[in-house]
Amino acid sequence: MRVLVINSGSSSLKYQVRDTDTNEVAATGLIERIGEGGQAPANHGEAMDQVAAVLEAELAERPLDAVGHRVVHGGERFSEPVLINNEITRAIERLNPLAPLHNPANVLGIRAITAKWPDMPQVAVFDTAFHRTLPEHAWRYAVPDALYRKYGIRRYGFHGTSHEFVTGRAAELLQTPLDEFNAVVAHLGNGVSLTAIQGGESIDTSMGFTPLEGLVMGTRSGDIDPSILIFLQRQGMSADEIDTLLNRNSGLKALFGDNDMRAIVDAAEAGDEHARTTLAITSYRLAKYIGGYHVAVGGAHALIFTAGIGENSSAFRQLVVDRLGALGLVLDAEANQVRSKEPRVISSAGSAIPVLVVPTDEERAIAEATTAVVLGAHG
Ligand code: ADP
Repeated sequence: MRVLVINSGSSSLKYQVRDTDTNEVAATGLIERIGEGGQAPANHGEAMDQVAAVLEAELAERPLDAVGHRVVHGGERFSEPVLINNEITRAIERLNPLAPLHNPANVLGIRAITAKWPDMPQVAVFDTAFHRTLPEHAWRYAVPDALYRKYGIRRYGFHGTSHEFVTGRAAELLQTPLDEFNAVVAHLGNGVSLTAIQGGESIDTSMGFTPLEGLVMGTRSGDIDPSILIFLQRQGMSADEIDTLLNRNSGLKALFGDNDMRAIVDAAEAGDEHARTTLAITSYRLAKYIGGYHVAVGGAHALIFTAGIGENSSAFRQLVVDRLGALGLVLDAEANQVRSKEPRVISSAGSAIPVLVVPTDEERAIAEATTAVVLGAHG
């Protein structure tokens, strides 16, 4: 099938045209500054017109069979990808309060396609869906139940499409049946999350009610004492200011002044103390969570690294594994240096469990899920 994958943000629209039979990527692109004036498209409808214009020759040769959308929040309702209709679009819209930055943009992307190609099958693939198997002891916060009932305050988890894809590839590589596979998956990109996999399912994950919880990220703080928010509010900061502080101006950016892991590793190697401390804080927090999840899954069969930092930064992987000696993990220094787009083992023969690098491909996963839903609906 030929699938257009759409990842629609509040002012951007990322797209890829993929063939799910051959796994070929026919086109890929990004439209930015939507609604910001000048030459930029005024809205997501105009952005889609631009995409269609760029793809005209490509689509004349071979039209699209379906469109797959990345949707950030599926709430408690969506545990798997679904074929979109008006009711589904409205249900996604009703989840807007849970993901105010993301879901409204996802809905705009869906409506833009509906307006342009009314008969095109569209599928929503949710970032939260893979974590719908979290048991209550992992998803519930220790706060009054009214907060859950009234506002849906609980842990949801994100990056699910990536964690699921990477788990499947790792089980294949290790020739372990998926339903017997226990693992800890570290998705280390600009956003960072760790997932505990038991029997191929997510049983815990480090992001929570929003993607702010958990590990140190590019520009997000991860876990902090919630009293800090109350304290800052009493100092006169507004909710929006605290939101920007913790989501956009914290994490690596706050600790080092730049959220690019390459720059931090280079500076640390050149002796920069800020960079060293940044790496220590980040790798320490991650190692602590990995230890916890190893226990949560009853003993992981593998530790898996993925996404920008996980796939590319041998130095950061080494720092993390150096802190996991208590679990018996040892990297093979040479294997850890290999650069490749293929899943691979980077631990030494003496390591208690294998350590893997498995490149993620969310667009591929979305295209494949879209194909499966459309074929299922028509078959
Ligand atoms: P996003 O969450 O935006 O999809 P990515 O998965 O692309 O992010 O990861 C972005 C992060 O990956 C950045 O911190 C970047 O510094 C890091 N990164 C990319 N390539 C390398 C590399 N060769 N070495 C170290 N870090 C890298």
